[in-house]
Amino acid sequence: MRRDEQERGSGGQPEAGSSQVLWRQAIWLVVMIFALTYWFAGSGTLDSENLPYNQFKAKLRQHEIVEISLQGDQVRGTYRFAGESGDSTAQIMKFTTTLPPYEDAELAPLLDEGRVIIRAKSTTVGWGQTLLVSLLPLALVVGLFFFVSRSLRKNVGGGEMGLFSFAKSKARRYSRGSISLTFDDVAGLDNAKLDLHEIIDFLKAPGDYVRVGAKIPRGILLMGPPGTGKTLLAKAVAGEAEVPFFSISASEFIEMFVGVGASRVRDMFEAAKKEAPAIIFIDEIDSVGRTRGSGVGGGHDEREQTLNQILSEMDGFAPEQTVVVLAATNRPDVLDPALLRPGRFDRKITLELPLKEARLQILKVHARRIPMAEDVDLANLSARTVGFSGADLENLLNEAALLAGRRKLTQVTATILDLARNKIVLGAERDNILSDEEKKRIACHEAGHALLAMRLEHADRVAQVSIIPRGRSLGATEQLPEEERTNLTQSYLCDRITVMLGGRVAEKLIYDEYSSGAEEDIKQATSLARHMVGQWGMSEALGPVAFRRGEEHIFLGREMAQPRDFSEHTAELIDEEVRLLVGRLEKQALNLLSTSVADLKKLAHALEEREVLDAGEVESLLGGDRLNSKVHME
Ligand code: ADP
Repeated sequence: MRRDEQERGSGGQPEAGSSQVLWRQAIWLVVMIFALTYWFAGSGTLDSENLPYNQFKAKLRQHEIVEISLQGDQVRGTYRFAGESGDSTAQIMKFTTTLPPYEDAELAPLLDEGRVIIRAKSTTVGWGQTLLVSLLPLALVVGLFFFVSRSLRKNVGGGEMGLFSFAKSKARRYSRGSISLTFDDVAGLDNAKLDLHEIIDFLKAPGDYVRVGAKIPRGILLMGPPGTGKTLLAKAVAGEAEVPFFSISASEFIEMFVGVGASRVRDMFEAAKKEAPAIIFIDEIDSVGRTRGSGVGGGHDEREQTLNQILSEMDGFAPEQTVVVLAATNRPDVLDPALLRPGRFDRKITLELPLKEARLQILKVHARRIPMAEDVDLANLSARTVGFSGADLENLLNEAALLAGRRKLTQVTATILDLARNKIVLGAERDNILSDEEKKRIACHEAGHALLAMRLEHADRVAQVSIIPRGRSLGATEQLPEEERTNLTQSYLCDRITVMLGGRVAEKLIYDEYSSGAEEDIKQATSLARHMVGQWGMSEALGPVAFRRGEEHIFLGREMAQPRDFSEHTAELIDEEVRLLVGRLEKQALNLLSTSVADLKKLAHALEEREVLDAGEVESLLGGDRLNSKVHME
C-alpha cells in the first residue's frame, strides 16, 4: 500500500476483508440482542429457587417464609433455613412460586399465623412498559438493518451509496491538494518526468491549449516492471498539477455479475468529469485490457464490456473536459491494440529498472527519513544492488531500519545495511542444520561455482561466497556484474551456465558422485539454455526463429489453440539442442575444474573454516596472477 493511501486509511481496503469485519459485527449484534432478550425475560429470577406450591405451603406451616410480594398469580419472596451442620445462624434464600388457579382458603390464615410480610403489586402494566415491550423487537430489526446498510456503504467507500451499490465505482479519491507528493519525491525517471510536464501544464492551464486548438493526449500508458514507480509517478503528476486524483486497479472493476464493470467505469468517469481538471489512474490495465476475443482468464464477456466502456468513455471526452487517464501495466505485450490507438492510450512512457546513479538517487530519497551512521556509503550500496527496483530499494532501507530498531540502535550502520541486503538477496539466515559432512560437501559445491566465476573471461565477478543456510539454499555464490547488462551476449550466457554447473561438477570431481543440492542450478541452467535456443536464435541447428511456448496470451481466436506454435518435431529438436548445449558446457566446466583441483580444495577448505569469504579473500587465496589466466570459451 502506498504512503498516501495509508494516510487516508479506509477506502482502499480489499472487499473480502471488510465484509468479514461486517459479518463479525453483525454476529456480535445478534448475540447481544439474544442476551438482552434473555435478561429481560428472566430478570430477577436467575438466582431464585422455583418452589412447587405445596412446598411453599409446607414452609409457611413451619414458619420459614419471611416475606412475599404478590403480582397476579406470581409470588416472589424469601424464606429462612438453618445453616449447614446445625449452624445456629439462619440463612435467607430467595424463591418464586405460582398460585393455583383455584381459591385456597388455607393460605390467608397460614400467612397471618407465620407473620409474613406481604407486599402486593398491581397487575396492570403501565403504557410505557407496554409500548417498550411491543416496540423493542421492531426497533432492534430496524436498527440492525441500518447498521448493516451503513457499514456496507462505508466499506464500499464512496459516500452516498445504498446497500446494493455494486455498480458504483470503487476508485479511491484524493481531493485537490490532498496529495503532497511531487516530482522531488520521485528519483531518477528523468525522461518520464519530461514527458509528463506537458500534461501537468495542460491540467494547470487547459485554456492555453484549448484556445489554439491543441489536442492534448488523454491517455498515457506507463509501462515497466513492478515497483519501478508507475503509481508513484502518476500520483506525483496529480500532486504537481494540484488536481483531484482517482485511483483504481483494473481488477476492481470486475465483479461476478456481468455489466457491473462497465457501470463502475461509467461512474468513475462521471465523478472525474464533475471535478475536472482531474486525473484517473488505472493500475494493472492489462487485467481488463487484454486482447479481446482471446478467451483468456475466464469471464471474458465481462472484461470485454468493461474495456469497451473505458474506450468509449475516452472517446467521449469533450475538448473542454480536462480529464487525463494514466494507466499502468507490466505486460504491454498483451494489450488490445484498440487501447493503443490514437485518441486513447497513444502516449507510452517506459520505466526501466533503475541503473546505478538512479538507484543512488532513490536510496537518497528514502534515506531522508532514516537516521544514517557516518560509515554508511549509499553509492557503494547502489553499486551492490543491481537489478533492484525502486520498491526493492525502499524495502531494503526499511528492512535495515527494522533491524536497527530490533537491536535498539539509534542509527542505521553500514553493517546493518549489509545484513539487510543479504537477507533480501539471499534470504533470511536459518539455524545451522548442517552436519560436518554436509558442510564439507556444500563448501566443495560453492567453491566449484566460485572458482569458475573467477576463471571465466565473461563471467560476472564473485562478490561473496558463503555456506550459511538461508531461505531454501544451503550456500550461495554471489556474483555482481561490473556494469549493468542490458544486452546479453552468447559468451556471457555460456559462461553463466558453466558457472551454474560448476557446483555439481566439483562434487563429482571430489566425491565421485552427484547430490540433490544442484537441483536449482540445473533448473536455471536449463531455462537459460532454452531461452538461448528458442528465443534468442543462438542455435545453429534451429536458426533465428522464436519458438513461443504456451503462455496465456497466445490463445488466439475463440477456440483454444495449441499451447505452442511449433511442431512436435521442432519440439524434439529444441529439446535436443538444449541438452547438447548444457552437456557441452558441463564438459567444459569439468575440464577447467579438473585442472585446478588443488585450488578447488583450498577454496573449499577455507570456506568450511570461515563460512563466508568476500571477493578480496577469494582473490588472495587463489593468487592474483591466476585471475589473468581466464579461459575463453567458444
Ligand atoms: P509500480 O506502480 O510501478 O509497481 P510503485 O509506484 O507502487 O511501483 O512503487 C512502489 C514504491 O517504490 C513507491 O511507493 C516508492 O516508495 C518506491 N519507488 C519506486 N520507484 C521510485 C523512484 N523512482 N523514486 C522514489 N521511490 C520509488
